[in-house]
Amino acid sequence: MTAHPLFDIGGRTALVTGSSRGIGLALARGLAEAGCRVILNGRDGDRLAKAAAGLPGEVHTAVFDVTDGPSVTAGIAEAEERVGPLDILVNNAGMQLRAPLLEFADADWHRILDTNLTTAFLVGREAARRMTERGHGKIVNICSLQSEVVRPGIAPYAATKGALKMLTKGMCADWGPYGVQVNGLGPGYIETELTRPLVEDEEFSTWVRGRTPAGRWGRTEDLVGGLLFLASPAADFVGGQILYVDGGMTSVL
Ligand code: NDP
Repeated sequence: MTAHPLFDIGGRTALVTGSSRGIGLALARGLAEAGCRVILNGRDGDRLAKAAAGLPGEVHTAVFDVTDGPSVTAGIAEAEERVGPLDILVNNAGMQLRAPLLEFADADWHRILDTNLTTAFLVGREAARRMTERGHGKIVNICSLQSEVVRPGIAPYAATKGALKMLTKGMCADWGPYGVQVNGLGPGYIETELTRPLVEDEEFSTWVRGRTPAGRWGRTEDLVGGLLFLASPAADFVGGQILYVDGGMTSVL
């Protein structure tokens, strides 16, 4: 049986920010397996080259820091010139800093805001300037179950992801009229480097498994299907939505 043509994204060009490892790399792999020309991004050229070597199909790398406006402008322009016009952008780069809010340092607040929220604005705006001119494009912002709910010690992270949800809706409002669909993907608890301290904490891991209807931690591959849907013509009339891929966690108490 063949896939429905609505899900065909073969030949599209896709940029995934923060894709040297973890969720970004798994999403890039999914896009590559679906026949996209994929551009990996991160700050470390060697790490990116190693990641690219492990993916199928036509894979490129673009080394730039997505928190830096001028680097983003130059990086997107260079990537489009070298690889081709972007059809799909995945704003994935992100970080976590865990600390009680009373002890959270000013510099850390600005760093997490810059990395998790400002990057989506900077890269999204630059890509959308080009996509709106061409009249089509798909942008997927990687939100989180913490766009909706929070736990002690991660208030700044949840603030960035809650704001990213609203930025997603705002991008939809501004760019939807020009044929660009913007949506979010909200992962639940997924095993990656970012969550390693939590995975290794047996008490926390037991809590995650018990609290998740699916009864387990998520795997990076669990997120691929949702992304391929949001990046495909099947989602041409879907805008400003956050698709939570969390084993059901945000739906239950
Ligand atoms: P990782 O820490 O494993 O990977 C983060 C990636 O982002 C790396 O490739 C890193 O590459 C890159 N990166 C970080 N800062 C920058 C920057 N300034 N410029 C360019 N690249 C950057 O994180 P995850 O894979 O776990 O998370 C990915 C996204 O998913 C994040 O937005 C996170 O908030 C979100 N998420 C994760 C969940 C989880 O359970 N893991 C749950 C919900 C959401 P390098 O250091 O080489 O630059």
